[in-house]
Amino acid sequence: MIDSTLAEISRALENRDISSVEITKAYLDRIAQENADLNAFITVTEDLAMAQAEAADKKRSEGSAGAFTGIPIAHKDLFCTNGIRTSCGSKMLDNFIAPYNATVVERFNNAGAVTLGKTNMDEFAMGSSNETSFYGPVKNPWDRSLVPGGSSGGSAAAVAARLCAGATATDTGGSIRQPASFSGITGIKPTYGRVSRWGMVAFASSLDQAGTMTQSAEDAALMLNVMAGMDEKDSTCSTIDTEDYTASLDKPLEGLRIGLPVEHFSEGLSADMEECIRDAVGEYEKLGATVKDIQLPNSHLSVSAYYVIAPAEASANLSRYDGVRYGYRCDNPVDLEDMYKRTRSEGFGTEVKRRIMVGTYALSAGYYDAYYRKAQKIRRLIKNDFQSAFEEVDVIMGPTSPHTAFAIGSQNDDPVTMYLEDIYTIAVNLAGLPGISIPAGFINNLPVGLQIVGKDFAEAQLLNVAHKFQQATDWHKKAPQD
Ligand code: GLN
Repeated sequence: MIDSTLAEISRALENRDISSVEITKAYLDRIAQENADLNAFITVTEDLAMAQAEAADKKRSEGSAGAFTGIPIAHKDLFCTNGIRTSCGSKMLDNFIAPYNATVVERFNNAGAVTLGKTNMDEFAMGSSNETSFYGPVKNPWDRSLVPGGSSGGSAAAVAARLCAGATATDTGGSIRQPASFSGITGIKPTYGRVSRWGMVAFASSLDQAGTMTQSAEDAALMLNVMAGMDEKDSTCSTIDTEDYTASLDKPLEGLRIGLPVEHFSEGLSADMEECIRDAVGEYEKLGATVKDIQLPNSHLSVSAYYVIAPAEASANLSRYDGVRYGYRCDNPVDLEDMYKRTRSEGFGTEVKRRIMVGTYALSAGYYDAYYRKAQKIRRLIKNDFQSAFEEVDVIMGPTSPHTAFAIGSQNDDPVTMYLEDIYTIAVNLAGLPGISIPAGFINNLPVGLQIVGKDFAEAQLLNVAHKFQQATDWHKKAPQD
């Protein structure tokens, strides 16, 4: 049963083929067996999970269960969980027990979901390999010498290795789609503002967005049905109505207009990756879609603009970690300044410090116009590129990442190499658009992800487009062998 999708588990629970206690135990056993090596979970909430599973079974026996009642999932460790450590992958928050639930967590709890634990991640979600975590790297279940991608590497590895059927995650520049691609699963980043950010540890507030990691698009729809929608606690959360994301999954794709950005099929993309992606696009043509080349002329500027804007916002957001109210505090500070300095030098890892320095520099008087304002102008150009493209096509497709998963430790010499990992995903965050990565093939037994980008709030359409592909292919059904 632990190989099953969320949809299958939901049906099995409904038919009383299995109880929530049984399926929860099965996942906890699997976690106990595999997590020491994979390192996908930072915290396993065994007692909470069993209590929630028992409550879910009781609810079902009383006849008041919903589609999500009793389904075990995991949360990325940057969603605040009441009474449970929320570390954000950092020594700074290693001792932080959140005093409330993030809206996303609260909604899953209200829907009757079972929380198996909190998944590993790059420190403060900064990274593309899960190697910057204070709790150590996560291994890729397809080949344990490789990274699972990041920053949501723990959620991706947990779903791929069947330690849970679904997990929450976040994407600021690619952190759902890139690990989904490296780990052979389905990951959706909804439109900015579709899901509440309340109770999510902030990295770059104009880019951060919560989404899901699952085996299939159908499962993503089930999770999004729980998560999405207006939240008065987050003023950036959209008031646009949500949809039943499962309702249009089966809609035929005849006449769907697909755009392929020429910039994503050029230098930097390996020949075998290109072949894989073009084959996937070929499947869509068989399903009745039409395909044309499009241009995103400013996409080469996206990584540079992002690495000004994201660190700038991070430098402001992370100023709260000063050792005063919560989180790490250095031992025996001699005065206030000593406490600030040592708390932050000892509590943050290298990549986080680098971002704070870059961000502070970019925002400082005299440099603000040259860097920050300029980056914001580029952001507008990138948004305009997408807007013009969407006048001609319905969705944009291409590779999620220029290559498959790489070896742990192989890309740590130069931070810029790591920054370029998100070359195809970052523009989507800058434009605030929804994007999904779905399994689209294998190169040397390693998964390849196809990225599909939609118009603002076109989540239902993206899930439909992904689901139809998953009905025609079985890439998403492949699982790594232990
Ligand atoms: N890899 C990118 C970064 O390091 C994106 C991370 C993310 O989406 N959280 O900033």
